[in-house]
Amino acid sequence: MPIICSRCRGAPAEASVASGRLRLCPDCFIEYFEDKFRETVERFRMFRPDERLAVAVSGGKDSGALLHALRRVYPDLELLALHINLGIKGYSDHCEEKVRRLADMDDAELRVLRVKEMSFTVDDFLKTIYRNRVCSPCGVIKRHLLDFMALESGVKTLATGHNLDDVVSIMLETFFAGDLAQLVRLKPVLPPRHPKQTKKIKPLVRLSEFEDYMYALYTDIPMRSENCPHSPSMKKGREVLENLGKGHPGFKYQTLSLFLKKLIPILEREISQPELKTCGRCGFPSSEDICAFCKRIDLVKRREQ
Ligand code: AMP
Ligand code: ZN
Repeated sequence: MPIICSRCRGAPAEASVASGRLRLCPDCFIEYFEDKFRETVERFRMFRPDERLAVAVSGGKDSGALLHALRRVYPDLELLALHINLGIKGYSDHCEEKVRRLADMDDAELRVLRVKEMSFTVDDFLKTIYRNRVCSPCGVIKRHLLDFMALESGVKTLATGHNLDDVVSIMLETFFAGDLAQLVRLKPVLPPRHPKQTKKIKPLVRLSEFEDYMYALYTDIPMRSENCPHSPSMKKGREVLENLGKGHPGFKYQTLSLFLKKLIPILEREISQPELKTCGRCGFPSSEDICAFCKRIDLVKRREQ
């Protein structure tokens, strides 16, 4: 006997949701996902319905689900999809092609920045001290270029596809590293701290990676089928999270709630954020005289000389 959907009680259930309490059929799952999405946007007052909103899209399931849910839940929203082609051989062009199809499907204006046109690629970092830890400079480059693209486009808010698993695992990593100021920066809405920064929002923060994947499948979103050749199969924080949550389906969700309701307000009161300077080279925010992006680019350029 198939298990029946906990919502409509008619169709066979296929997917369980993050809290572990519901098992839903595809139609009810899509409804559940979009309800929770709308609830999150409204609860944290992420943007105004008449705003022009930038969305960072990578070609993966999370940012794909994000753009699609935004279009379905807020049909009149002006959406600007931002994509960075990182120049990773056998991967980046494949991602860009999925992003183009997705932007078309969801009626979003698309801007693509190819790092090759800035005379470097993420693959170039293989020949630097980063060797097999290319994800570290890649993260710096993505954050910087997304800020740059958002600023150039004149948008006030940038949405990213960080999901529940991402946020809770980064939270655990940051907590164990003792970096309490950084922990505060995982909030679902992060106001700018520098004139060249945009407000960052994470509308998928209450939806799990599995839920994003099921939503992307059920709504037929174009998504990449290749994995990044540089990315480890499972990051450290994610491994810790999977072990801690074994046998407790609501663990991630409860951890996030506790974090947002109890810990963040205390940290915001007690921990001051380090002062932000302006990079002497590119004019973007930096904790030092030259920003992390400019320093990484120097590394690659130096190798070429
Ligand atoms: P990651 O840092 O790869 O876990 O990605 C986190 C979020 O950053 C994604 O959900 C996207 O919103 C955004 N992102 C990642 N890669 C790209 C990319 N190549 N272009 C635009 N946005 C990206
Ligand atoms: Zn700089």
